Amino acid sequence: MPAVPDTPLSGFVIAIDGPSGSGKSSVSRQVARTLGLGFLDTGAMYRSATWWCLHQGVDLDDAAAVVAATRELPLTIGTDPDAPAVHVGDHDVTAAIRETRITEQVSKVATIIPVREILRQLQRRLISAAGAAKGGVVAEGRDITTVVVPDAPVRILLTASAEARLARRSRELHGAADAASVAATRTQIIERDRTDSTVSQFTVAADGVTTLDTTDLDFEQSVGAVLQLVADARR
Ligand code: C5P
Repeated sequence: MPAVPDTPLSGFVIAIDGPSGSGKSSVSRQVARTLGLGFLDTGAMYRSATWWCLHQGVDLDDAAAVVAATRELPLTIGTDPDAPAVHVGDHDVTAAIRETRITEQVSKVATIIPVREILRQLQRRLISAAGAAKGGVVAEGRDITTVVVPDAPVRILLTASAEARLARRSRELHGAADAASVAATRTQIIERDRTDSTVSQFTVAADGVTTLDTTDLDFEQSVGAVLQLVADARR
């Protein structure tokens, strides 16, 4: 795996990785709110690159064209956990990058290694800037604990059983966790994680990364468990 560190880190950095439906986005945001820190959703950056390529008519199977487009990505991403707005050029893409068409294709873009190198460098700079501005930052994704900020003082892998993750995401997408809704969600979650796993290791914790299994925890308990790990690290 390529070594990203170069930009020195500023502030207290909390890195959280995990698969789809582990709750990492909502938990990370709430932890940032509670501690008054910045928040960076790195998945939103891969989603924005995907949106930008599609917007420009770039064929996602043409890796060289995707890399060229990513180099020119005019991305602005907020690090306020209460308003993490995302803009690409003049377009507010905060909602558009969550659409199914993006979710279904984002892994194509995220598995192109030079795209990852470009976005990881940018992530490291954004994390450092938000850390300097707010005293710290919670950054979440798939390779944040291992590649982007392996030097963060708190590194957590948030996991949950496949059943729990499917049920959570199914409720988010369909408002229910009945058999039909879960089946409809399965491809989105399981297939995407399988593809994403070819370039990032987020199913087993790397050395020095703490695993937090949220299968039997509700949202508040998950947030509380992360806050406890942060308190332990600060002591
Ligand atoms: O977290 P989210 O589901 O929004 O991430 C969208 C996609 O972005 C993932 O499926 C993955 O392909 C990519 N991603 C990544 N590395 C990260 C964060 C997200 O490859 N650090």
